[in-house]
Amino acid sequence: MSFFQFNVIGTVESPYKQKFAIPRQPGLIAEARGKLVLDPPYADDDIVRGIESFSHLWLVFVFHETASKGWSPLVRPPRLGGNTRKGVFATRATFRPNPIGLSVVKLERVYRQQEKLVLELSGIDLLDGTPILDIKPYLPYADALPGAAGGFADSAPETRMAVSFSEQARDFCLAQHAHPELAMLIEKVLKQDPRPSYKKQRDTEQHYGMTLYHFNIKWTVNGEHNHVTEISQLP
Ligand code: SAM
Repeated sequence: MSFFQFNVIGTVESPYKQKFAIPRQPGLIAEARGKLVLDPPYADDDIVRGIESFSHLWLVFVFHETASKGWSPLVRPPRLGGNTRKGVFATRATFRPNPIGLSVVKLERVYRQQEKLVLELSGIDLLDGTPILDIKPYLPYADALPGAAGGFADSAPETRMAVSFSEQARDFCLAQHAHPELAMLIEKVLKQDPRPSYKKQRDTEQHYGMTLYHFNIKWTVNGEHNHVTEISQLP
């Protein structure tokens, strides 16, 4: 057989509403909390029996946003500045022959919401609406390999970017009681410098915007300094 069809078992609700600003791997921003919502027939209590004894889960998912854009054998990893080519199977790029992603995430809790089952997660790197194909528990004895070689991505990415907030932006975050982590989430997202590589070389002030949850966040970048100028609620 060379063709398989899979069922989507659930969908992710994520603060990340667009690809821009999503970290390149899970676990980099613990404040990025999301929900994996399982619908019937997968919203069955039996299907998750015992899952709470695992702190972390592997999620197998579809890169649904980019799936229709195809793939090529060579890709330019942003980690290498976007100029060096690597074989697609030597990277975690989204444009793959089969647009399948794999992320290890922290399981915070499991609960029922009417006919749906909800797995609350943190440290996610998934776009809102990401379709999930499978869940597997993370097994430290088999999955954690401290001596493994990490190729061109041997350690977590680091930047020297600083982040500050205007008074309006700080007050806005403090007022979001449903999202007490908002300021920290924004700070960590900006600290990773989500700009495309070619824009990082510019030395003039740049203006950016992104949506996290239902908030519109505007900021400027000047050298190695991000300043969050304004946050507003989307209609
Ligand atoms: N951890 C996964 C893996 O290794 O397969 C994803 C790695 S991929 C480099 C991470 C990027 O995938 C994120 O920065 C985001 O831009 C993108 N992404 C996340 N969810 C997506 C989705 N549903 N469709 C398309 N791109 C997505």
